Amino acid sequence: MSGFRRAPRERPDRPPVGYKIARPMLSADGTGLGFRGVSLGGDIVYGPLDDARCGYERRHRPPSRWCACGFYCLHDAGAAIELGCATEYRDTVLLEVAVLGAYLRHERGMRFERQRVRRVHFPRCACGRASEGVVDTGEGVLGWRAITGSCAACAGHRALLRFDAYARLAGPETVTTCDERLAPPAPALPRVGSLSLDPGAPGQDGTDALVPQLAAEAALLQARLDWFQLQLGKLTGQGES
Ligand SMILES: [Zn+2]
Ligand SMILES: [Zn+2]
Repeated sequence: MSGFRRAPRERPDRPPVGYKIARPMLSADGTGLGFRGVSLGGDIVYGPLDDARCGYERRHRPPSRWCACGFYCLHDAGAAIELGCATEYRDTVLLEVAVLGAYLRHERGMRFERQRVRRVHFPRCACGRASEGVVDTGEGVLGWRAITGSCAACAGHRALLRFDAYARLAGPETVTTCDERLAPPAPALPRVGSLSLDPGAPGQDGTDALVPQLAAEAALLQARLDWFQLQLGKLTGQGES
């Protein structure tokens, strides 16, 4: 008999809630919302209600104690907002998600099987005004356009998909707002490929990105520690049987 066991399931009355950052996407035909993660599996676009796929392409259902894949979220919205300050994450939104299916609880967050996006928080428009909807950024992946929050003035002649219409694409329970707490995207600058032409672009020296990155490292380290502790527990006969 195999000694493999599914991750333990808790059965709470209401699904736990977590917070994360993700890159918002809109399907090519404009009818589907998508989200790309910021680390492992960042090339996968997930729908507002979706199951995690293994980012290592192993054939199993996340989460598993022997694989690092699955959806991740933090317990604390503030910690997710800190992550979003990092230069490389300025194109993200803050998501409030319901944690569904099997999940593993860590000190700072959870790793889990199934996710429903309940709230999408966009930062202000790059001009500083409140964002009112989303516009195409001009980037994307196969079948999906990357989008960003924009005010109506900056959208100009481009199509602005207003937040209420955007949220309706995800279903009746999803709410989308502009959130003043979030670090806004960098102002639009002439770009050559992904190279910014602005010599004084913030964060080029990496200092303002250091603290959030350390926080992310700490979260990952904690997950690993939990795993090692479990293995140790098994070896000494004190862990789960
Ligand atoms: Zn996996
Ligand atoms: Zn604007």
